[in-house]
Formats: sequence, structure tokens, C-alpha cells
Amino acid sequence: MYKADNALQKMMQAIRRSLHLHPELAYQEQQTSALIQQELDRLNIPYRAGLAETGIRAELGTDSSPCIGLRADMDGLPIAEETGLAFASQQPGIMHACGHDGHVAMLLGAAAMLKEHESELPGRVALLFQPAEESGNGAAAMIRDNALAGVDMIFSGHIDTHFPVGQLTVDEGVICSYTDPFAITIHGRGGHAAKPHEAVDAVVIGSNLVMNLQTLISRRIDPTHAAVVTVGRFAAGTVHNVIAEKAVLEGTIRSTHPDTRERVLSGLQQLIHGAGEMYDVKIEVEFHAPMPAVFNDPRAALIARQAAVAVVGEDRVLSQGTPSLGGEDFSFYQQEIPGCMIRFGAEKNGAGSAHSCRFDFDEDVLSCGAEWLVAVALCGLKNLREQQ
Ligand SMILES: [Zn+2]
Ligand SMILES: [Zn+2]
Repeated sequence: MYKADNALQKMMQAIRRSLHLHPELAYQEQQTSALIQQELDRLNIPYRAGLAETGIRAELGTDSSPCIGLRADMDGLPIAEETGLAFASQQPGIMHACGHDGHVAMLLGAAAMLKEHESELPGRVALLFQPAEESGNGAAAMIRDNALAGVDMIFSGHIDTHFPVGQLTVDEGVICSYTDPFAITIHGRGGHAAKPHEAVDAVVIGSNLVMNLQTLISRRIDPTHAAVVTVGRFAAGTVHNVIAEKAVLEGTIRSTHPDTRERVLSGLQQLIHGAGEMYDVKIEVEFHAPMPAVFNDPRAALIARQAAVAVVGEDRVLSQGTPSLGGEDFSFYQQEIPGCMIRFGAEKNGAGSAHSCRFDFDEDVLSCGAEWLVAVALCGLKNLREQQ
């Protein structure tokens, strides 16, 4: 088992903080990409840049096969940081609020460790630095640009502040949900606020739809299958005394079972059709960039668990519990090849949760995460070689 020493922890911490100072949004990760390339150059690891705009695939090892892929995501979120950290974001309105700065630092730390033992690797390791996880399905763009060429199995981990540092969660099967973002447009008829009978009020129709959408979850699906419908944006009208002509509702459907997903999606269509009839109005719905569920392949999960046990010991490898209703575009890789995603405990007292303006994590997770990435690459190569 390779251990991350103090110097490596310091290096990863410096990378994390530098990225945290300069977060970038999906497909705009130019500076992030430049920093990664600089580190790879320093480590003398060859790479291909410009995949999915700002993504990178680096490679090390000996034989051409088997090949294990390790993935880190690079993007920040459109959130104004309020952590008060000395290295808080200097980009107004943008923040690393999901820990992707840590993921990049860990993968570079793992790269340094793997490079040191490159001659002992029984195959190859592909390091994928991926843009646009938070929006834009960067993983799908990486696949389009051939990032998975020759890769047999892929692994990744995500920082999770629900667990303390030193705990890792490994689960087989679904761990993150199906994600189906939607936009509903109601084409009503504007008019005078005092003459509703001469207009078709898009605000009233939209409000009814928002409430009725909630019955999809409470009345239409098996209550033992988790799902959620959230309308996150409701845009309508211009001024208080004019009936709105148009309303746009944007939201997302999350589910963890394919049947549940189908039922919610078809129910939503029915509701919209019904509302259109009832109010005699045109209502359109569009689905944008749906994302499959993260499904951990049983064999990959076994390898991930072996590596986790090697790093933190049996009693600190846990289950995350029920699947999260969060989405993760790691699922796109798993549509192509077997893979497994785990969680790295990184709890920090007083910090906010992921995607909040006060998010932060315990930086000790960097060593733990890097060690697991190295261990899973080695376990994976060994396992695949034995099966060859
Ligand atoms: Zn996120
Ligand atoms: Zn994330």
C-alpha cells in the first residue's frame, strides 16, 4: 500500500487552494486545465489536452493492457462564496462548492505516487480530468472525444461531508439517481388585471401545475421507491396590473428506479396534456440533457472495496445508505464500461453543506482520497490481469 507523505499532502493542499481561489464554470476551466497540465509536465506524465474543450487524459504505466481509468471533475458552481476562508474565491459569483477542487488535487497526488512506481504497474492507468460535471454533461463530451479509448474499468470518488475523514463508503448498484431536467412553457393570453375573462392567466395555470406535479410523487409511484419533482424556477409576467401571457417552469425529476422514472415522466406528460385541455391553452414541455443513474458494477464495487479496506481498514468502509437523489454524470462512463464511484468522508465542523455558499471540507481527505485512487488502480489492474 502506497502512503501519501507529508510533502505530498502539502502539495495537494496547495493545488486545492489555488484552484479554490480561481473557480471556473462548466467548459470554461481554462486556468484549471493549465494548472493540471503544468503539474503533469512537472511529473513528466504525457497527456492529451483539449478533450471536451478543457478536459485532459493523461496516461502512465507499462503494458498497454489492462487499463484502469481514474476520473476527477474540474468545475465550480455559480454561487457567491461566503466561507471567509483565506483562500476564498476571487471570482465574483463562482465557487468550488462541491469539492471538485479537492478531486483534482487528489488525482494529481495519485498521479505523483503512481509515477514513482510506474515500472511496477501491471498495465496502464488513464487519468481523466473532466469539465462540466455540474452542468453540461462533461462526461458525455469526454466520451465523445475518445477519453475512454482502451480503458477497461473506471473509478472515481466524491468528497462527502456527511462522513468524517478516514471513512469511505462503497456500495454496489444504484448510488445516485436518474436526473431529468424539464422546462414547461404555458402560452396564455395577456390582458388587463381587472378583466381576467378576456385573458388566459399563465400564472394561475402555472401555479396549479406546480402543485399538481407534487401529486406525481405522493399518488402515482410506489412509496417505497424514492423520487422527487422540484420546480426550481417559475418565470412569468412583467408588472402587477397585467395578466401574464406566458409562464415558464423549470425543474428536475429525480428517481432511483427505471420504472419509477417512467411513471413520473409519463405522469408529467399527462398532467400537462390535462391542464392544456382544462384551461384551453397551449402548454409545451421540453426535457434537457437527461442523466442516467450511477450504477456501480458488482465486480468494480468489489475492487473499490478491496482498495478502501487496504487504505482505511475494514471497520471504516461503510455503506452510504439509501441511494442519493443527487445526480452525477459519472453514470455516462458506466454506460460504456464497468465502473464504481465511492464517497470520501471529509466532514468539517461549522462548514455548510455541498452546493451552499459556506461549503468547505477537511483537507486531510486529500491524502486518503489519493491513496484510494492509487490502491484502486493497482487492485483493478491486478484483478483484470488475473481474468485475462
Ligand atoms: Zn455538485
Ligand atoms: Zn460534485
